[in-house]
Amino acid sequence: MPELPEVETIVRDLCRRRVPGCRIVDVVLGWPGVVEAAGRNQFLRIVPGRRILSIVRRAKYLVFRMDNEMYLLAHLRMSGRIYLEPESGCHAATRLSLRLEDGRWLDFVDPRKFGRWMLVGNPAEVLGRLGPEPLSAVFTEAWLGEQLRLHRRQLKPLLLDQTFLAGLGNIYVDEALWAAGIHPCRCAADLSDREVQSLHKAIGRVLRQGIRNRGTSLGNGRPNFKSPDGRQGRNRSRLHVFRRTGQPCPRCGKSIERMVVGQRGTHLCPACQIRPSLLPCASPRFPRPARRGPLRNARSA
Ligand SMILES: [Zn+2]
Repeated sequence: MPELPEVETIVRDLCRRRVPGCRIVDVVLGWPGVVEAAGRNQFLRIVPGRRILSIVRRAKYLVFRMDNEMYLLAHLRMSGRIYLEPESGCHAATRLSLRLEDGRWLDFVDPRKFGRWMLVGNPAEVLGRLGPEPLSAVFTEAWLGEQLRLHRRQLKPLLLDQTFLAGLGNIYVDEALWAAGIHPCRCAADLSDREVQSLHKAIGRVLRQGIRNRGTSLGNGRPNFKSPDGRQGRNRSRLHVFRRTGQPCPRCGKSIERMVVGQRGTHLCPACQIRPSLLPCASPRFPRPARRGPLRNARSA
């Protein structure tokens, strides 16, 4: 699934190729379900003729601001891609196309049909419930520490929760937790100040690296992510744990393992990321419930 760096790459490419400023002259729905039925007629009536003023990213959404004070929101979900083409009909599985006044076509291609487009007057209706952007000034170490202490949840599902923090997905959460040396099953509230500091740094670092490398394309033969000009992202070769099960950890050499956490496939180093049951509780504010039997110590185990 495209995450923050992949969506950011798409937005930057569309801006570089001057899609903002273009008028949309036609909308073609290759599959009607790409726009929810309730808003479909309005979408088809209002969008043609509108000029795109700007395109930005918020979390994993693309946000097109138009000249009538309305917004197009696009979420790529599992397999959505956006291509910019000189003619129509370039791709199978094109679910929606915007024909631009200069003759180009912005095609939304989505084999698995989970992606959605919508037209809204107030984007906050959809985006307002999202957590802060991890590359914004709001996302400070202090903020992260305060928020984590409020949640007695496993860390990985919490970091994937878009209402907690926006834009992270499976790839970059696994990479950030490995970089910080923290096990994905740790209780969020139990992290020490030092671990919060490491995690905060790691999240920023893996996301910035992902953007610099124009996203992560996975899959052989048919990569799951391409930018609007059809290029694959380069970040795959920079991943340390994600989908590297059985390969050596770049830090310690131990084999990378895969486990399921919160119903998501999760990759980690069992030596660099110590299981929570092997750690003493780090948070005096939320003491761990009393356990029967001796607590095993990570280093003596
Ligand atoms: Zn390791």
